[in-house]
Amino acid sequence: MLKLNDPTLLETRSFIGGVWENSKNTFDVVNPADGNLVAKVADFGKTGVRKAIDAAYAAQKDWAAYTAKERADILLKWHDLILENQEDMAQILTAEMGKPITEARGEIGYGASFIRWFAEEARRIDGDIIPGHQRDKRILVLKQPIGVVGSITPWNFPNAMIARKVAPALASGCTFVGRPAELTPLSATVMAVLAERAGIPKGVLNIVTGSDAAEMGKELCENTKVQKITFTGSTRVGSILMQQCAGDIKKLSLELGGNAPFIVFDDADIDKAIEGCLISKFRNAGQTCVCANRIYVQSAVYDKFAKKLADAMSDLKIGHGSEDTTKIGPLISKTGLAKVEDHLSDATSKGAKVLTGGKRSDKGELFFEPTVLADVTNDMKITREETFGPIAPLYKFETEDEVIERANDTEFGLACYFYSNDLSRVWKVTEALEYGIVGVNTGLISSTEGPFGGVKQSGLGREGSKYGIDDFLELKYVCMSV
Ligand code: NAP
Repeated sequence: MLKLNDPTLLETRSFIGGVWENSKNTFDVVNPADGNLVAKVADFGKTGVRKAIDAAYAAQKDWAAYTAKERADILLKWHDLILENQEDMAQILTAEMGKPITEARGEIGYGASFIRWFAEEARRIDGDIIPGHQRDKRILVLKQPIGVVGSITPWNFPNAMIARKVAPALASGCTFVGRPAELTPLSATVMAVLAERAGIPKGVLNIVTGSDAAEMGKELCENTKVQKITFTGSTRVGSILMQQCAGDIKKLSLELGGNAPFIVFDDADIDKAIEGCLISKFRNAGQTCVCANRIYVQSAVYDKFAKKLADAMSDLKIGHGSEDTTKIGPLISKTGLAKVEDHLSDATSKGAKVLTGGKRSDKGELFFEPTVLADVTNDMKITREETFGPIAPLYKFETEDEVIERANDTEFGLACYFYSNDLSRVWKVTEALEYGIVGVNTGLISSTEGPFGGVKQSGLGREGSKYGIDDFLELKYVCMSV
């Protein structure tokens, strides 16, 4: 049973036009660690989405007319309330998603940091005055909010992925309709509870919960009152949304899947590389888009690295997310578990060797042991697809050129990592890797200050950083004769 300091934060209704709405249908949210029911949540379909869009559309002009400081002050109040309620929000997150409570606390803090950052950015959405092209001409550039923003977010970071979108949207004067994943709606509704307490006006922020992702997504994409879609999730769904947005040439930001290479050169600090690998590979039980998915180790240090990594698995305590000492929680679902097992059996049937782990844990139905696999080759599924689970596949390589080619041999281009202490190699490899984010001698790259996003089939646009607000603004060129 979920015990909260403030039980009113567990909100099972949707927030539409500033009103908490019940639906006659509900869906169950269960804790993946034990299968227990966490809550029954209002199940809205396209009608709920349409109502929220209408409310957001009606509220947008007024919200945009607030001064930047007024919007920033409200966002900062929201930020403060989130931090005041960080523990309860983390408990809700862990209950519905399963991640270790220490990671959930971190995620709430990380999400709040975007709200603060974009509250600060709101006051720096500067336009431009450009020298005119004729003697009587003056050129001005205005930056204006794009309008109503529709957001679709996944279960693996159910707070931070919303925060990274809603903060720049609201800071720039857009209004927002968010549809959280069916598995993790409560981390979204709690944000709306606190947004209301912070004084965000009615209609500016809407959260619509529901089980029919396709129907709700289609309404968001095809409703002409929505000016922009921002999505985080798989490349497959990103492509569907792009097609649905083609009808009215809707703007899109897409944060999609990855297949991150993690490269260890023979001049690297091996202990530092192990530490980075543990963070990058096993955070959230391997269910992150920036997870190390393919670990390439140069032949001279391969055996040493493999042994150290396998030994380090014993420190990764598997358990219920609510326990403070847990490092590896459950996988999100049976489908997620089936994919992990499929990748493992495909790899071992083609010659990969299990160094440690390699099976379900006895902690519960969805728990899988952290696993290290050696002798992995290019023809295995684990090399081509995101595994989204706690398996670390190791590949041996000989030369720099070879590993760059192998690292880039994927349709994805989100994050990559490499370890080296050779300065000229660091430059050369950084420039050659076809990825939106490069971690050099670090396995932890997510930050509020850096532009997060991918190339190739990993997405369009950037989130966070001074660039993250651009996607929510339109430029207006004014040509004035004086
Ligand atoms: P997913 O299946 O694409 O789901 C993502 C979101 O889209 C969920 O809210 C889902 O709803 C919804 N959805 C599913 N089908 C839809 C449709 N036809 N129309 C509209 N919405 C639809 O992805 P996932 O497997 O849950 O999440 C993991 C993926 O997200 C991985 O590929 C991961 O790499 C990626 N990801 C990327 C980033 C990034 O920043 N690049 C960050 C985190 C995760 P339901 O869940 O309710 O079905």
